[in-house]
Amino acid sequence: MINAPRGVEDLLHPKSFYYAQIEKEARDFFSLYGYEEIRIPTFERTELFLRSVGEETDVGKQMYTFKDRGGRSISLRPEGTAGVARAYVEHKLYGSKKEWKVYYMGPMFRYEKPQMGRLREFYQIGVECFGEKSPWLDVEIIEMAYRFLSRIGLTDMEVQINSIGCKDCRGRYVEVLKDYLKDYLDSLCDVCKRRYHYNVLRVLDCKNPTCRSFIEKAPQIKDYLCSSCEEHFNYVKKGLENLKIKYTINPYLVRGLDYYTRTIFEIISPHLGAQSTVCAGGRYDDLVSQIGGPSTPAMGFAIGLERLVMGLKKEGVSLKTPSQLTFFIAMLDQRYMEKGMQVASLIRSTGAGASVSFKESSLSSQLRQANKKNFSWVIIIGEEEIQKKKFLFRNMRSGKQYEVSTNSIEEFIKNLKGVS
Ligand SMILES: [Zn+2]
Ligand SMILES: [Zn+2]
Repeated sequence: MINAPRGVEDLLHPKSFYYAQIEKEARDFFSLYGYEEIRIPTFERTELFLRSVGEETDVGKQMYTFKDRGGRSISLRPEGTAGVARAYVEHKLYGSKKEWKVYYMGPMFRYEKPQMGRLREFYQIGVECFGEKSPWLDVEIIEMAYRFLSRIGLTDMEVQINSIGCKDCRGRYVEVLKDYLKDYLDSLCDVCKRRYHYNVLRVLDCKNPTCRSFIEKAPQIKDYLCSSCEEHFNYVKKGLENLKIKYTINPYLVRGLDYYTRTIFEIISPHLGAQSTVCAGGRYDDLVSQIGGPSTPAMGFAIGLERLVMGLKKEGVSLKTPSQLTFFIAMLDQRYMEKGMQVASLIRSTGAGASVSFKESSLSSQLRQANKKNFSWVIIIGEEEIQKKKFLFRNMRSGKQYEVSTNSIEEFIKNLKGVS
């Protein structure tokens, strides 16, 4: 017996159905905002992630990295933004003078400690827009994420926003923060002790109670934003109010990656405990230049499907399978298999669903099976039916039965579709 590796899961029905349904909704919904799909590779050259995500960050440390048979260092994508940015530069899409709007979906890979809502292979749906620096884009992207989650059925959501400024003003703030934390360095948790040196902003989102007590009195970035970053953030806030999207400003919301600039946001489902972030996004005006392209403003977000589905479940939302007309072909004897297969084939050609009972079993057990699997109709095939060229159609909801002749099966189904 070989089990799946730790931290991955098989998506069985109905989870697989949920994922497919959410992905379908995403395609429809994001296209309303002018976004097109991009399918990026599952693996890239490690160098891309080292230049974007960085080696010292949590994500950088969790990468699946290996040498391929040609001796090249390859990494499974730990997130989608780097690959999309690489495609933008590689295909010289910056030449078109207009913004490039894309969405992607698929599995990402991180060597995490597996727990509820956190797997080593996990699914994301993400959106990126390149080439637009207007704060109205920030507003539209936050709106899009929020409205998409509402459309899927999530109702309890909290939108948190913050601005982490630009290279200049953040640089000043980082100095101030380091200076403040210096005196407490010995009391910070081990993770924060490391973060203090390579990524001090991340100390701000530490959940450790001791760290929190220092953080709550720490200087906040909002007081250090330069005038253009402050103006940008004011537009974003006003824009969200204009579209009636409730938000809170979380001064401790940060990103571990250097290329993030100005607006960052998260959408939280309060029912999910420690792993409550369903959607995370932000502006990253410095990424494209960091990976070797021309300086290009950009913004995006990613939604985690595991957590979204968990959130829907906690709220009691169920995505329903579209009601479909389905027929179960029951046979009084396996001798009628040939006829049964023909009838099933005919039914499917009309666009309705049909399943044949392959097992030798009594009529009553076949009916029970059809009932359990929620078929709308059962067709019974026996010697007499074949002789008379007429089949018995039994409606599983009402129990009503109809005799339908072989040549009028198509018409009978067409009429059923008309009413359903
Ligand atoms: Zn600034
Ligand atoms: Zn800490």
